[in-house]
Amino acid sequence: KIKNVSTWYPVQKNFWGQPTSFVKAVNDISFDIYKGETFGLVGESGCGKSTISRTLMRLDTPTSGEIRYKGRRIDGLNEEELRALRKDIQLVFQDPFAALHPLKKIGDAIVEPSYVHGLIDGKEAQKERAFQLLEQVGLGPAYYHSYPHQLSGGQRQRVVIARSLATDPKLLVLDESVAALDISVQAQVLNLLNDLKDKLQLSFLFISHDLNVVKYM
Ligand code: ADP
Ligand code: MG
Repeated sequence: KIKNVSTWYPVQKNFWGQPTSFVKAVNDISFDIYKGETFGLVGESGCGKSTISRTLMRLDTPTSGEIRYKGRRIDGLNEEELRALRKDIQLVFQDPFAALHPLKKIGDAIVEPSYVHGLIDGKEAQKERAFQLLEQVGLGPAYYHSYPHQLSGGQRQRVVIARSLATDPKLLVLDESVAALDISVQAQVLNLLNDLKDKLQLSFLFISHDLNVVKYM
């Protein structure tokens, strides 16, 4: 539940370091996302969509307003308290090349979040989970040993989706997640997302500048 949220970035400061002017990237926004829903957020480039997703993930702090998750205020949580939240809400980035370390094997990259959140223990469990995640996004076990540059754009985006699922999240924030893909590949990834949503009972905040893509979802 996003209520009257604003996120302003200071762009000018006075002699004492106090901000004197702001970019009002997000200004007084309110909306609710219900369980099991795909909430589409559409708008032209630069209108503040990514700022909303970052604010919701608490990668940015809102200037004012309230953000609630399952009824609980999250806009004032500290880093420690945010850890649990970051397990439940995962961000899927637009650019899978930037999101993946070039020298890290796919199999290791996708289970990293499970590992960070202490959800798996030991090499065997890690491997098993990686194979499970690869299968969920329609990639065979052979991809475990691949590196990002060996994959196509669509395959890389599947890897990024697999990694976002590693913590068993409840809400995926998909910020222009198919914008970098060809139309035909876009459709495949969108279908995959909808299948995963049903199978894993996810909710989506689906952000795009492309009205057709949002309508499709
Ligand atoms: P969108 O995702 O809809 O394209 P963004 O949320 O990325 O839009 O950006 C909204 C506006 O806020 C833009 O004018 C952008 O230049 C500005 N902006 C984004 N991040 C920052 C920042 N860290 N500092 C200053 N201005 C920013
Ligand atoms: Mg954006």
